Formats: sequence, C-alpha cells, structure tokens
Amino acid sequence: MAEVKLINIEKEYEVGVKAVTNLNLSIKDKEFVVLVGPSGCGKSTTLRMIAGLEEISSGELYIDEKEVSQLHPKLREIAMVFQNYALYPHMTVYDNMAFGLKIKHVKKEEIKERVMAAAKILELEKLLTKRPGEMSGGQRQRVAIGRAIVRKPKVFLFDEPLSNLDAKLRGQMRTEIAKLHKSLKTTIIYVTHDQVEAMTLGDRIAVLNKGKLEQYDTPMNLYNHPTNKFVAGFIGTPPMNFVEGKIAKEDDNLFFVEDHKKLNFEINTSSVLLKYENKKVILGFRAEAVGIQKFSKVSSFKGKIESLEILGAEQYLTVSGLDNLIISKVSADKMYQLNDTITLNINLDKIYFFDKKTEKCIH
Ligand code: ADP
Repeated sequence: MAEVKLINIEKEYEVGVKAVTNLNLSIKDKEFVVLVGPSGCGKSTTLRMIAGLEEISSGELYIDEKEVSQLHPKLREIAMVFQNYALYPHMTVYDNMAFGLKIKHVKKEEIKERVMAAAKILELEKLLTKRPGEMSGGQRQRVAIGRAIVRKPKVFLFDEPLSNLDAKLRGQMRTEIAKLHKSLKTTIIYVTHDQVEAMTLGDRIAVLNKGKLEQYDTPMNLYNHPTNKFVAGFIGTPPMNFVEGKIAKEDDNLFFVEDHKKLNFEINTSSVLLKYENKKVILGFRAEAVGIQKFSKVSSFKGKIESLEILGAEQYLTVSGLDNLIISKVSADKMYQLNDTITLNINLDKIYFFDKKTEKCIH
C-alpha cells in the first residue's frame, strides 16, 4: 500500500509569492500519476515537497494515512530519479546501485541480490563494472532508475527523467518506464513539461498552471472533456484551435456568430448555452475536427494555406481566413501547395465552447 495525499499544500519561496497554491491531490496505491504543465508552474516544487527536499509552507502530506509533512526525507520511504541522473562518477554501475543500501548497513548478500534483480529488470547486467562516463545517456538513466528500485521504496518520484535524452531514446525509455511500472506495481509520481509523455504514461494526469491545479483526470478525459481553455490548449498536439465570437438567439434558435461573422452556425439549444445569449464565448475545435472531408454537421470557411507539415499518412495545414490561424489535420493522399485557397469544414459534433471571461468549458 502506498497512497499519497496532498491536502491544501502551498509553497511560498518569498513572502506573498506562491509557487504552489492550495493543491489537493489524491494518488492511489500503484497509480502512475503525472504532474504536467509549462515551465515554472510548480511541478518540481510539488515533487520536491513530497520527497521532503523542500519544506511545505502550509498544508498536509500523507503517505499511507501517515502525516509526513515534517518527516525527514530518509524516513519517507521514497526514491527520486533526477533529470541529471545524479550518479557518482567514480563508482561502477554496481556500486552506484548498491551505495544507498550499503550506508543503510544492509547485508552484503542481500545488496547483491537486490542489485542483480534490478540489473536484470533494466538489462544492465553486462554494464555492472562500467563507470557512468563510459555509458550513454539512456544507460545512465537506467542506472539512476536501478538505484531507486533497489531501495524498494513505497513511492517513486521522477523529475523530468527523459528530458536530457534525444527524441528516439526518449520514446524507448518511455516504453521501458511504462513496463517497469507494470512489473514493480508501485506508486509513481512523475513530472514532465511534455504533454505527450504525460498522455502516454499517466493513469491520471494533474495539469498545473501558475501553481494551481487546472484538472486532474485520465488522459482521455483531459483530451475529450477539458474543464477549461488552458487544459484544452495544453493537452493534444497540435493545440486546440480557438475562435472568438458570441452566442446569438434568433426566434427560438441559438447560433454561434464569430466576431467578424466569418462563421455563423446553429447550435443545440442547451439550457447551459441559453444563459450565454449575447455573451462572448470562445469556440474550440481540434485539428482533426476541421478538414476537407464532409462531416454530418458542419460549418465551413474559406482560407489560404500558410504552411504545410507532412507527417507521412497525414499532414497539418495551417490556414488563415479566420482571426486566428487554424490548424487542420488531413490525409496526405491529396497534395496541397502553399497559398492554395481551400474550404475547410468544422465538425460541429466535435466543438467546445468556453466562457470568454472565466475560460471555463461551458459545453
Ligand atoms: P516547474 O518545475 O513547473 O518548472 P518550479 O516548481 O521549478 O516549476 O518553480 C515554480 C515557481 O517557483 C517558479 O516561479 C520558480 O521561479 C519558483 N522557484 C522555484 N524554486 C525556487 C527557489 N529555490 N527560490 C525561489 N523561487 C523558486
């Protein structure tokens, strides 16, 4: 069992400036939770407070029902894997992994058993006599993970562990970490600024922005049901398209009217949207919900192709014509040229509305 609970956790480095504000998170036993958000949003601070490397300004932290806010890091039964690996350069892989156990006076045979077991899981058996300087970034990262595994912690904390690796290796290590979580069956809290990493690894993802929790949910719920414009724009590649306008009522029907009337379409008369009559809203739709294909309910606009990005089977077209540039994901079967004029259809079954003032998702 290793549940982690953060209750009203706050961090003030300087008086009056909160790096983390009123954070509530409940992480279940064996859950893989990712903290994601732009640089400076408070992810590392949160992780460091859980590890005990940073003092908690206010709030309570529980591990398995036990309040640990004031407990020394060594007594929290947590292991942290850092971005820069933090290995001892003069020690072999074996000694790096064994070191934490040696200073805890674990018996030699048991150390050997635990190091060999971790080395097997991480395929480090052939590298045990090497020193960090003789290994690649990916191998060093595996040693850093191995060092955490041998300690048999209740909770693993990962602080941007893959950001020093190149794209291909990052993809491989991502798969390894996912496998590792399945085999170790422990709670993992993982920090990254990379939403793709978050989406592929997390059972649940906590999206942070400016020290506050924006949404805590499964990857698919974040993607399909973002609670606000920040989450809608942060999760998903490319980001969601946004267009400003207002809700208008004519006879008994509701319409979305874009600020410059370039889009004007009827929308479902839902009780929530009725409250927004004549109010400013933001329309949101993802790149796959706008294209040249026919959807069953559409609103169309003409635009000019400003840039093209071909990814193989698909391509992204960046198109002007509305106030903001719109990114559309279409099949690469048909080739386009820069400056071509095309008609794009927005799939009205896949649109979102956000309150212009609060930026909360309203529909
Ligand atoms: P992230 O990990 O999301 O990039 P951090 O948790 O590192 O963000 O930082 C959150 C905020 O706290 C930032 O505004 C950062 O400048 C500030 N901060 C982080 N560490 C310190 C520190 N030791 N002293 C003062 N401010 C800090």
